[in-house]
Amino acid sequence: MNEQEPTTDATQIAGPDSDFPIRIPLPTAPVAFDAIAMQRLVGAFLGSAVGDALGAPFEFGPAGAYSARFPEPVIGGTGELIGGGPFIWAPGEFTDDTQMAIALGESIIACNGFDADDVWTRFQAWRRGAQDCGSLTNRALSNSSWLGAAEDAHHALRRRSAANGSLMRVTGLACAYAAGDEATLIEAARAQSALTHFDPAAGWGAAIGAALIRRSILGEDALAAIPGLLELIDEPIRGRFAEMLDPSWSPNDPNDVSNGSVWGCLAQAVWAVRTNDTFANAVIAAIDLGGDTDTVAAVAGAIAGARSSVQGIPSRWLTYLNGVVGTGDGTARYDNAALQDLARRLAGLTGNSIATQSEEELT
Ligand SMILES: [Mg+2]
Repeated sequence: MNEQEPTTDATQIAGPDSDFPIRIPLPTAPVAFDAIAMQRLVGAFLGSAVGDALGAPFEFGPAGAYSARFPEPVIGGTGELIGGGPFIWAPGEFTDDTQMAIALGESIIACNGFDADDVWTRFQAWRRGAQDCGSLTNRALSNSSWLGAAEDAHHALRRRSAANGSLMRVTGLACAYAAGDEATLIEAARAQSALTHFDPAAGWGAAIGAALIRRSILGEDALAAIPGLLELIDEPIRGRFAEMLDPSWSPNDPNDVSNGSVWGCLAQAVWAVRTNDTFANAVIAAIDLGGDTDTVAAVAGAIAGARSSVQGIPSRWLTYLNGVVGTGDGTARYDNAALQDLARRLAGLTGNSIATQSEEELT
């Protein structure tokens, strides 16, 4: 996550203390997912983690680095999951994008919906042990309470808070609210964004991303829904999203902006999904754009993973997923099985739950 990015001129208060409720319950009578939709939901959550882990070695690097390193698929061992990068990740290890998605997802399960206080507590616990935390999120979470925290960070970073950090963590929330109506999901996506990202554009980017994930889980052509989603956004925020999410746009467009911003990240992720037929090609295209490679690939991977369903994600990439999330009790470790279990718990399934292992249990 790279959060030193351009911003809209936020003149309205965008915080859960004013514009957004601090509790948004999950739908009480959700749609029951059939087996096919469940596989798409698992594909969204795991696809985001795979994109994150594949992209992490190339974070802050140049365009084309992935394809230069891997001109052909690597079959055997951990394959292309080489780890390393600026934060020295282990092979297959997911990063802050997935870590925060897990913290937010576990909070939603524990509270039966979005609860600002609980999310804040979990984000702060995560931050204490985080290997990488973007500057804006880091500043916001340094406040003891979420009240005013996003606004403090917004001003501390010279009003540059339209960053991609609240979009990248929205996948689990999208899975949890997918069975309800889109308006509730959008409200929850914007509310979680407002905890750390004061610029309303960040919240709208997270909301559009979440809506695209939900529609893909439900088997719809999510990209065809973009014009309708844009209508929900007030001007002047809508304009740049409309330009950059248009099918005619590509990352070569002169109006492209850094993919550390919410606009660049979402637009590049949507472009990668739109212009590639398979999950693998979509996340590779996202990583090959360079810059904030793990985050763009995490966003693209969520949408592409829902569209392909989990069966469309190469198993060699799923197999070696791993990572650690700081919690109030220490840390929790998630592997492929634990991530798939979390995805199913987000969908409301509680049977056969695999407990994640605390570090204490591992010793
Ligand atoms: Mg990251």
